[in-house]
Amino acid sequence: MKKDTILVIGAKGQIGVELTQSLRKLYGHSHVVAADLGPVSPGLEGGPYVELDVLEREELGRAITRYDISRIYLLAAKLSAVAERLPLEAWNVNMLGLLNVLEAAREKGIGRVFWPSSIAVFGPDAPKWNCPQNGPLNPATVYGISKVAGESWCRYYWEKYAVDVRSIRYPGLISYQSKPGGGTTDYAVEIFHEALHTASYSCYLRENTILPMMYMPDAIRATIELMAVPATALTVRGGYNINAMSFSPRELALVIQRYVPEFKMSYRPDFRQTIADGWIQKPDDSVAAADWKWEYAYGISETVRHMLSHLSAGVK
Ligand code: NAD
Repeated sequence: MKKDTILVIGAKGQIGVELTQSLRKLYGHSHVVAADLGPVSPGLEGGPYVELDVLEREELGRAITRYDISRIYLLAAKLSAVAERLPLEAWNVNMLGLLNVLEAAREKGIGRVFWPSSIAVFGPDAPKWNCPQNGPLNPATVYGISKVAGESWCRYYWEKYAVDVRSIRYPGLISYQSKPGGGTTDYAVEIFHEALHTASYSCYLRENTILPMMYMPDAIRATIELMAVPATALTVRGGYNINAMSFSPRELALVIQRYVPEFKMSYRPDFRQTIADGWIQKPDDSVAAADWKWEYAYGISETVRHMLSHLSAGVK
């Protein structure tokens, strides 16, 4: 059987670098093509790279043909905090990028497509704790609106054209390899860098703001597992809720202080507080568990230990 060749669009981002590396380990370096705006970045040199603007349909089509692509992971997007500042630009990138990929998948018979949604699909009227898979989708942010619309397009392309597109509603993602790209949960990454470099961090959210989070290795594993299951196992074609841990900035600071006792946290909420206030605190992921056996591995203690040990190796 012919081996799949995968295109990862938005490969230079927080998820893209680690997802590309994991896919290359699994499928072979020459079978995973990384794509993003501008030249290749560190961490992606080990395999093919193409400079690609996903908003340019012809460029996308040329890359698919040139590399004989059979699976696409689309990660290019504007994240929540950036989107609130640049609403129309964010809508354009998040929607046109997805539609270009779905259309290319339909026209060229791409086997499988992955597109990430977010817990931001839920708005202030959704149950904050254990929000169900089918909770109300009334987001109060531009980012959330684009993710709800994106989920609807994914379902439409599956039902109408049998494009096998799969999606996860990621919570805030914590990673040490790449810096976050302008989301509302970025504090949960920045805090580790500052704890090790300056032993202090000024948080832009209030101390008791609980949000759902996940350590990057769990998010990468979820993505790869979802893409590996047979289509018949899946009952959701919008985005699957997945859950790992929920904590507030204060709770995270307390766990970090176990390892960095001199670490001090201060709070200066900004516009991101309003975004966070409208989000859920914990998704219910029982449908993902039933359909493709999703289960997280990293809680807050393991995440903090891993983050600090990986990052402190780089601190002189
Ligand atoms: P990121 O901002 O770190 O990376 C996005 C990448 O897309 C960047 O490298 C950027 O250069 C690239 N890009 C932007 N516009 C492009 C274009 N027109 N053509 C090609 N590339 C382009 O984002 P991320 O954190 O890696 O997120 C990836 C996806 O996961 C997004 O859809 C995001 O909404 C979703 N998500 C992320 C999180 C999180 O915590 N990181 C949480 C929920 C959902």
